[in-house]
Amino acid sequence: MFLETPVLSFKKKSSFLYLKQLWPPRNSQWKYYKVSFQKSPSVAFVAMGTKVSKAKQRSPSISPHPEQHHGTTQAENSSPVGNGVSKDHHSAPKGQPANQMSSQSAAKIVAGCWEKIEQQCAHNQSGTWNSKGKDRVQAGWQEVRIFVSSTFADFHAEREALVKKVFPELREWCEGRQLHLVECDLRWGVPKDSTSQTTISICLEELDRCLKETDGQPFFLAMLGERYGWIPSSEDVSADIRDNFDWVDHLSITHMEVTHGALRPKNPNAAFFLRDPTFLKDIPEEFYGSFVDDDPLCVEQLKELKSRLHLKFPDQTFDYKCNFSDVQAADNKVQLSDLDDFCTQAVEFLKNAFNKKYPEDRLQHDPLSIELLPHDTYMEQKGQLVLGREAEMEKLMQFATGDDVSSSAVPSDSGQAEQGSCPILMVLAQPGTGKSSLMAKFTMEVIQKSDNVLYHFVGCGPDTMDPTNILQRLYKKLHPSGSETEEDNEMSPDQLKEKVQKHLQDFGEKKERLVIIIDAVNQLADQSSTFHLDWLPPTFPSNVRCIVSTTEHPPTLSRLRDRQPPPDELTVPDLDKNTRQDIVTRYFKRYNKALDKEQLELLTSSDGSSNPMWLAIACEELRVYGVFEQVTAKIQSLPPYLEGLLSMVISRVIQEDETRCAEKMLCLLECSQSGLQQTQLLMLLGDPEKATPLPLLTWSQVHRSLKPFLRNTTGHMNLPGMDFCHNSIRQVVQETLLSNQATQQNYHKLLADYYQGQCASQQLVALELPYHLQQAGLHSQLVEFLRKDPRSLKMAMHSRQKYMNAIRCRTYIPPGGFHGGHVAQIVICKMCSMRMQAFTPARTMNKDTCVICGHFTPFKKEQQKVQFCMLHKPPLVAPGQDWCVVCEKPAIALRGRQNDPAYLCMMCSVGISTNRCAKV
Ligand SMILES: [Zn+2]
Ligand SMILES: [Zn+2]
Ligand SMILES: [Zn+2]
Repeated sequence: MFLETPVLSFKKKSSFLYLKQLWPPRNSQWKYYKVSFQKSPSVAFVAMGTKVSKAKQRSPSISPHPEQHHGTTQAENSSPVGNGVSKDHHSAPKGQPANQMSSQSAAKIVAGCWEKIEQQCAHNQSGTWNSKGKDRVQAGWQEVRIFVSSTFADFHAEREALVKKVFPELREWCEGRQLHLVECDLRWGVPKDSTSQTTISICLEELDRCLKETDGQPFFLAMLGERYGWIPSSEDVSADIRDNFDWVDHLSITHMEVTHGALRPKNPNAAFFLRDPTFLKDIPEEFYGSFVDDDPLCVEQLKELKSRLHLKFPDQTFDYKCNFSDVQAADNKVQLSDLDDFCTQAVEFLKNAFNKKYPEDRLQHDPLSIELLPHDTYMEQKGQLVLGREAEMEKLMQFATGDDVSSSAVPSDSGQAEQGSCPILMVLAQPGTGKSSLMAKFTMEVIQKSDNVLYHFVGCGPDTMDPTNILQRLYKKLHPSGSETEEDNEMSPDQLKEKVQKHLQDFGEKKERLVIIIDAVNQLADQSSTFHLDWLPPTFPSNVRCIVSTTEHPPTLSRLRDRQPPPDELTVPDLDKNTRQDIVTRYFKRYNKALDKEQLELLTSSDGSSNPMWLAIACEELRVYGVFEQVTAKIQSLPPYLEGLLSMVISRVIQEDETRCAEKMLCLLECSQSGLQQTQLLMLLGDPEKATPLPLLTWSQVHRSLKPFLRNTTGHMNLPGMDFCHNSIRQVVQETLLSNQATQQNYHKLLADYYQGQCASQQLVALELPYHLQQAGLHSQLVEFLRKDPRSLKMAMHSRQKYMNAIRCRTYIPPGGFHGGHVAQIVICKMCSMRMQAFTPARTMNKDTCVICGHFTPFKKEQQKVQFCMLHKPPLVAPGQDWCVVCEKPAIALRGRQNDPAYLCMMCSVGISTNRCAKV
């Protein structure tokens, strides 16, 4: 039996027609025909075999092409229609009749395609994929891939939205579930000189990889507009591809991807986004062509595909609208706006799909693993990109698992009485050199070899900067048998320290090995206190190997180096070139992208690239950069030093930030004393007039765009907060965004207003408000707060004194005061002296308080009397009258009783022998 076979339109290239029996696919071969037109139609029908189709009047003449004719009996039987051969007929002729005919014919081709697809679907669903194990999902980190399919030129805006909004949000969400998200966005990474042959295979092989990893249910996101896309000619489709992917002719690559990735496996994890074409009316004419296909076959294919998707996947097909925004001058690409619906639907659909495949309860939530989660997350993030560093890894491993510690360290001559105290290993590195990444990778390797590892990455989670947290974890590690008692939870840090030391000694008797890894001890919350590193056990038995890492933070270094025995030291060097190249290659490969040789060379020979942080930021920047053709130029534009690169990236982020919050957030963080909490940022970035916080959605958007620059902190009262992850970022923000003093003061005022009006915690207000008032130059408000606001009573006296003395006049007063002219004595009049709260919200009588800081000062010395300088001296009063500093009026001695002089406390009266103007 022979099928009536539709023939491909030859609008674009050749005047050949390719004919093939559509089903079954493997029995048929291609036959080539030369076509000629008598008049105008662009599509013709011919039949395979003996039966000749009802080729229309004035339809093209078709004859077997002699050179490419692969003779089969069928081909020989087929008879050419008409005669005469014409040359180029690349474009479909215009005109009503031709179009009518074309769309009719196109409909037939399309019907044929779908017949084949449906057959394949039926075949596939008989169980190829479903038979495979469903229980492949295990606990622990998993990789999830999302395959994105669409035509290219007309979906630039959507792909940008995916890369910059949808995927970052999903990635963050995934990380909370130990899922590593990999997007397969093929806009990028198809080498620029690749032939169409390889383009097809790259796209399809990638898709196939997704299929195989997911038992036929890859996460798949297709977008369709008014372009059907390139339909490969049969020369473009190699026998391999044809075979491997059951190629259906007359389909565009995009359609083929949809067929392979979603239709055939009836993929429940596929989503289809169909773009409403209304916005096209606003598109500038010169771009219209890249958004709309007018070829009848394309139009027909697209129409049918959309309607079938709606039919087959009603819950997975979404229609969305958007608007034309403008044309980006830099890359001449059309920008679309109002893609929020699209983004929201995509995120929601994919979260649901992930959730089904990787239910939340697959991670057992015992307390220990919850505690471990931030460390594991951090380790996974940091450790995956470390390449090279073999020598350092070896030294670390040797130290952790080897028998021999450094020879000088273990005193063995005095017998076993000393038990041999083992030195620690100190890993030392410049900021940005990848110390934490090295520690993370090493940890990943060492936990493969030993169960008994305690790893702690300072700064990876809210509590992790608290030294007590490390001690508690160490205690639990050493004392795992007994479930913890109430007592254990109530131990003071000192008791805890003692117990840990004792358990460590006991552990020294055992044959086991314990490895302790603590990253970034210089970042612990107590880094500037005298107790810094006090928690670190003074000695370790020889079967406990402790590795700590630090930057060259002097107090940390000196404390570590003062230990007995002194620590072994390992300095992390700059990256060598090979390692840089490896890092870059590996990085892009994770996202299915690649730089070409020249680009790789260019990137890794930049001076900046010896610093892993520079390299990481550069790679990230290139990855999110959408214009593949300009990557080389982009690499050339990367400043070759860390601060320069950061500055460039930060301005890019701010420029692209639609929330208009990114810059503000960076500045607020920079102006904060020690980072900010999320709730605070929400209010600060929200509407201060209405006291409404920033919508969460906007928040996550801005947070995500800044995430590479942030780290978690333990803020006041152990509340989790966030701050910059690196000092260089602080510096760049300071220099680029806050160089203007007025701007800086404005941000401090914003923060002051927040603490004044919206912060619920009095402690926090007491800590923060005076600081920001001072920085904002709002001195009278500062005085008002310190004197009147009861919340200021939560402040430590010394800080109250510090703020007030910083803004008092302080002009030197010579002993005995100024001469010349009458100077009234500064007093507190009888009316004011027995009252309260002139200088402090506390309930002490005015006469007994320091007029500067409000400190209770019942015992006064002559030298503590308040004096004002010539500039601030009180107005002339009548002889014998004094001046009251509270009511600011002349004070008359009533019934001959003297007024009480106004006094300062000891602290505020500066030296005892000299005095300074007390005018606030
Ligand atoms: Zn005082
Ligand atoms: Zn003064
Ligand atoms: Zn008074």
